[in-house]
Amino acid sequence: MSKLWSPRVKDLKPYVPGEQPRITNLTKLNTNENPYGPSPAVLAAMREETSDKLRLYPDPDATRLKEAIAAYYKVTPAEVFTGNGSDEVLAHAFQAFFCQDLPLLMPDLTYSFYPVYCGLYGIQYETVPLSDTKGIVATSYDRPCGGIVFANPNAPTGLPLALSEVEHIVRSHPDCVVLVDEAYVDFGGETSIPLTQKYPNVLVVHTFSKSRSLAGLRVGYAIGHPDLIAGLERVKNSFNSYPLSRVAIAGATASLQDEAYFQEKRAQLMASRERLAAQLQALGFDVTPSATNFLFVQHPQMAAGKLAAALRERAILVRHLSQPGAQHHLRISIGTHDECELLAAALKEILSSAA
Ligand code: PMP
Repeated sequence: MSKLWSPRVKDLKPYVPGEQPRITNLTKLNTNENPYGPSPAVLAAMREETSDKLRLYPDPDATRLKEAIAAYYKVTPAEVFTGNGSDEVLAHAFQAFFCQDLPLLMPDLTYSFYPVYCGLYGIQYETVPLSDTKGIVATSYDRPCGGIVFANPNAPTGLPLALSEVEHIVRSHPDCVVLVDEAYVDFGGETSIPLTQKYPNVLVVHTFSKSRSLAGLRVGYAIGHPDLIAGLERVKNSFNSYPLSRVAIAGATASLQDEAYFQEKRAQLMASRERLAAQLQALGFDVTPSATNFLFVQHPQMAAGKLAAALRERAILVRHLSQPGAQHHLRISIGTHDECELLAAALKEILSSAA
């Protein structure tokens, strides 16, 4: 650490990303990527974009994509903001809305990037208890605050919060922004996008990384009242952040236009999740009910770190998070049918050799 660093940077505890190994012969169930890949129509649209258009700059406003998102969710393009992955959209939202005199509220077991953004932007925050019950109780947020953020379904637990409970939170805090991070909502959650039509203080953030299998493309977006979108645009333009690339705009737009592929793969993944959950339960795991593309699990007889290490020896990567409240669990991304079978067989072998 250099003496020249500013105090805020010295105090920062940076986000620790999941491992992206350079060797490719691993079964990678550690960063909630989608195992199926994007639709052929998406790949064709991206290829087409690279044919003779890459010498031209992209549309800085990603108008085509905003129109496609607006049409998909039946909102107007003025209610849509796009960014390079939802992490960037979240970063702009934290700056635009949460630098307030009162603290930001978030669950005590949540997406670990939120406290990092708070450190980076000097945002004070308080946590509301989640780790005891693993479920968010909407009334825990009934106290004065400068904003609220949570993932729904939650990460890393996978538990969803009902729309009525989100509405309770939004209605009880008309003077601050309630940010609902719906990175995993397509795997069984209930979207809060309808609330954006009733309440000017709710912002819903989505990503193309998970259910649309485009993590490598880096596209995320927010939907909310035009005033909130204008705040995000103001931060983005002051920050000079990169516009989406031509390939990203083409790929994400095409993805929204292939509904049949999206529905088929999403259903396949949710079926694999339920099958894997049952297999893990049969092995003695405590499996938190999940509305996401991952499972949050714990085994009473074997420590999570030990299980993760034993799986790694068998070339299977899962996530063992260091956050308080998560250290005793593994977060396992849902892979293909074969990957899930491989994982279940490996866990069976590890547990029986330890017995
Ligand atoms: N929100 C949550 C809850 C996540 O788990 C992730 C993925 N790590 C993101 C946002 C960011 O996803 P991306 O930047 O790929 O859109």
